[in-house]
Amino acid sequence: MPAGRPVSPIDAGPLPGNPWTTLRHMSTEREDAQPTSDTNGTADIGVTGLAVMGSNIARNFARHGYTVAVHNRSAGKTDALLDEHGRDGDFVRTETIEEFAAALRSPRRALVMVQAGAPTDAVIDALAEAFDEGDIIIDGGNSLYTDTIRREKAMADRGIRFIGAGISGGEEGALEGPSIMPGGPASSYEVVGPMLEDISAKVDGTACCTHIGEDGSGHFVKMVHNGIEYSDMQLIGEAYHLLRGVAGIEPAAMAEVFREWNTGELDSYLIEITAEVLAQVDAETGYPLVDVIVDRAGQKGTGRWTVKSALDLGVPVTGIAEAVFARALSSSVPQREAGRALPSGAVSTPSGTGPEFIEDVRRALYASKVIAYAQGFDQITAATAEYGWDVARGDLATIWRGGCIIRATFLDRIREAYAENADLPTLLAAPYFAEALADCVDSWRRVVTTAVTAGIPAPGFSAALAYYDGLRTERLPAALIQGQRDFFGAHTYLRTDREGSFHTQWSGDRTEVRA
Ligand code: NAP
Repeated sequence: MPAGRPVSPIDAGPLPGNPWTTLRHMSTEREDAQPTSDTNGTADIGVTGLAVMGSNIARNFARHGYTVAVHNRSAGKTDALLDEHGRDGDFVRTETIEEFAAALRSPRRALVMVQAGAPTDAVIDALAEAFDEGDIIIDGGNSLYTDTIRREKAMADRGIRFIGAGISGGEEGALEGPSIMPGGPASSYEVVGPMLEDISAKVDGTACCTHIGEDGSGHFVKMVHNGIEYSDMQLIGEAYHLLRGVAGIEPAAMAEVFREWNTGELDSYLIEITAEVLAQVDAETGYPLVDVIVDRAGQKGTGRWTVKSALDLGVPVTGIAEAVFARALSSSVPQREAGRALPSGAVSTPSGTGPEFIEDVRRALYASKVIAYAQGFDQITAATAEYGWDVARGDLATIWRGGCIIRATFLDRIREAYAENADLPTLLAAPYFAEALADCVDSWRRVVTTAVTAGIPAPGFSAALAYYDGLRTERLPAALIQGQRDFFGAHTYLRTDREGSFHTQWSGDRTEVRA
């Protein structure tokens, strides 16, 4: 092992419940990185799927002193990784799943980083064929949590331990330290958890990785994390649209506004990169880059999954849903082309669009963001009850503070809120957030009003405010809806003054009967 490289943490001592015999490490030289009988059983961990995420995570493990068996369906990516980064640490090059399995120490630990869906099933099945009882497969892709529940059961039936780990942080996080959300049996986490914590981001010395709960819980919380990310990005987009459309602030100047915001309570990765994107000038045209990018937002599906799951669980994640629909609207090309001819009606912009307006938008953004998190945490609470998981919401806020796309200073406040009261019925009930929203609400109303009168769509801001008002309202029109449901479908209703269910005989004499 070259001087200066850390000793394999596994060689440094046995993991809990997992006694090792110390094995010799292979050379790190590229030409020696071939599977041989010498390298069999030497790798601490294997990574299969060496596209952007897998190759960077493999490098991250290697940089932390682990010997990493690497495998990809097509060997080209394996060779590219070893050619470019083979000196990052100890790798064992493998071409087939059998070689990959042979390279791993027992119990084997393999991280699957391939496309979610059928490819992940194919790779897991191939690994299970080559693995022995007690070996561990970790799926680090963006798998749908119900697939993870199914796979965990199927693997358990074959004696293979299975961890569904949500991993966030993109390319850079994968290399420098992602946020990792592993779900599966606690006994399996004990074996792989220390390695995952080792390569994860650290905030104040705390790893951004913890055992989330049983079976699909890790992928579930990763899915909601992505949903919150959608919402966060949409809200930032709306702030940009308003600052530009109402206050006329050009991208370069707006980058400074976002940089300033990034020094306060909005301090976060997404605000930081927004400033970078806004400041970027297109080399070819000299225009702000944001003006030459086609305004159709893509999506890979995790936002949509979040909303579908929320519909099933009956949790109003309106901020996330509006964000998903706003991306869909942006990509509704024929409708947008036809819609351009629609009249705006009388629109106007407020006269005061100086610093006060900018501050109003900042507060509306902050308040709406709090709502998005509150809704996302509600969805996790509901899923925890539905699936019998034991997800600690404060732990999520802790591991999302670093490494991941939604990392933000603000998550410290969420962590503190759940530390004070782990059973909060809503994040908005925490004194810190209740006071923060009280501070923001006037600005929030002015911004939503301005958006409406200026004809600028702000579905995220307005849905968040409507949710806030919905929670505040003592008597909702749901009473009238219950009356309507009873009228056409005899669905019955509860009364405010008596126990029991009731029905009015609408088509008869309209007297009320107990149902
Ligand atoms: P990706 O583009 O999602 O997947 C490409 C990888 O999957 C390649 O290694 C490819 O092998 C392999 N693959 C595809 N079909 C396969 C099959 N049938 N059998 C075996 N291997 C197959 O790669 P990625 O962007 O690095 O993401 C990996 C996983 O992490 C995905 O689940 C993704 O959703 C998740 N993720 C991605 C990010 C991100 O920022 N990109 C962030 C978090 C999580 P070949 O090279 O042979 O085609």
